[in-house]
Amino acid sequence: MFNLTDFPLPFRETDLVPYMSVETVRLHHDKHLATYIANLNKLIADTRYADMDLREIIINSVNDQNAQKIFNNAAQVFNHEFFFNCLGRGNNVIPDMIADAFGGVAEFKEKFKSVAGDVFGSGWVWITHNENKFDIISTKNADTPIAYGIKPVLVLDLWEHAYYLDYQNRRSEFVDVFLESLIDWTFVVDNLNM
Ligand code: MN
Repeated sequence: MFNLTDFPLPFRETDLVPYMSVETVRLHHDKHLATYIANLNKLIADTRYADMDLREIIINSVNDQNAQKIFNNAAQVFNHEFFFNCLGRGNNVIPDMIADAFGGVAEFKEKFKSVAGDVFGSGWVWITHNENKFDIISTKNADTPIAYGIKPVLVLDLWEHAYYLDYQNRRSEFVDVFLESLIDWTFVVDNLNM
């Protein structure tokens, strides 16, 4: 059994205003994430997934054709916890380590925006770290790098519910604001060093 209280927001609901409204944060965490958790609990009850932790559920269900609903809900729980952990007003300065990996700050932003711009429908944009190399990739729907043993460094939620109340159809503006003002790079760097 998973509980919403196991996945607390690492910031106050008002911390991200004006870049992300209290209403968006509240709906996203208290309704969307809560629903994925409730669905996951129902789906895993009395299955071989019932006693696994979240990561084990994801890794074991990704190739189980009878467990794709379990995979989708478990991956959404992981992705949302990771996304909320990436957000904050603490340290919005892009670290040299990330910028250098893409040839500079401008080049990093350009590449991130380009990958985000190519997402059609619901998905996620990630910085990943694999075999000592940083990359920027997108995944569709609930898909997540940890299902394939790839380490996530940063993620942006590009499902409409992540931005529609605040940015409506202006998704690229949300991507720009995310890069400039919504990432807590301290979490990103700490997570990378773990
Ligand atoms: Mn979301």
